Amino acid sequence: MAGSDGGLLIVGSVALDSVETPSGRVERALGGAAVYSSIAASFFAPVRLVGVVGEDFPKEHIAFLASRGIDTRGLQVIPGGRTFHWKGAYYGDLNQAETIATELNVFRDFNPRLPEDYRRCRFVFLANIDPELQLAVLDQVESPTLTACDTMNFWIEGKKAALLEVLNRVDVAFMNDAEVRLLTGQSNLNRAAEEVRKLGPRYVVVKKGEHGAVMYCNESICFTAASYPLHQVVDPTGAGDSFAGGFMGYIARVGEINEANLRRAVVYGSALASFNVQDFSLNRLKHLTMEEIHARCEEFRRIVHFDPE
Ligand code: AMP
Repeated sequence: MAGSDGGLLIVGSVALDSVETPSGRVERALGGAAVYSSIAASFFAPVRLVGVVGEDFPKEHIAFLASRGIDTRGLQVIPGGRTFHWKGAYYGDLNQAETIATELNVFRDFNPRLPEDYRRCRFVFLANIDPELQLAVLDQVESPTLTACDTMNFWIEGKKAALLEVLNRVDVAFMNDAEVRLLTGQSNLNRAAEEVRKLGPRYVVVKKGEHGAVMYCNESICFTAASYPLHQVVDPTGAGDSFAGGFMGYIARVGEINEANLRRAVVYGSALASFNVQDFSLNRLKHLTMEEIHARCEEFRRIVHFDPE
């Protein structure tokens, strides 16, 4: 496409997270949907980040993003502002976070303005944030090849109309099992995913935590991936975001949307998510290598392979 750019544009929360899990706790650690997904995607493709933080956001976090080659010109720093803060806990069920507090802070008045070259990205991921902000970003991009979104219960319950508009305009929706059920009111997951597909996205990818992920397209399941059999999940925060970042990063790298690439994207997404949950915050992804990612994908292949009689 003339004048387009193969990079991946990501908008979403950039956060300080206070999280408690059965393995321990962290206070105001680096987090946010856009951060997890950008770091995961940065293993595959150039990322341009759009978001906002306050003056309290440690500069070392911006340096970390930059060290992964992420373009942070779209990350606004508001003088005197306070960064988005999410406080959550996992009690027993590691697939379901309990939100204790959501302090939107600088995200409340955020008006995303994309730098000129960001508008030509061929791939766009609207990570979890107010769907009105997701729409504001979609309005500014010029004919992208593939757009995707994620969301969560907070926005399904609080901003459903805007979220439905986002879903109507994207190609891929990433949601977890509880979110598709909440959005559609349908308890059967296959039917629920089909209903989400009818709202607009050609592909619906349902993440089921320790039970893997399923990609729906063409009125049927087109791929299902196991989750990596870990013996300990330290902190599930950001699993969905790193899944989506790995998926979208891989698609941006190969550039072509076909079923073989989409299947591989689900496996790369699953691999990134499985590493992410092995430590708090971004700690595991900080020292992850491409060799480790490839080795884990190979493991995925080994555990699902079988020979027909
Ligand atoms: P995940 O575990 O993949 O669903 O996402 C976890 C991340 O979502 C955390 O790092 C939080 O900062 C972020 N988050 C929590 N609540 C919200 C919200 N209402 N909007 C945007 N991001 C959020």
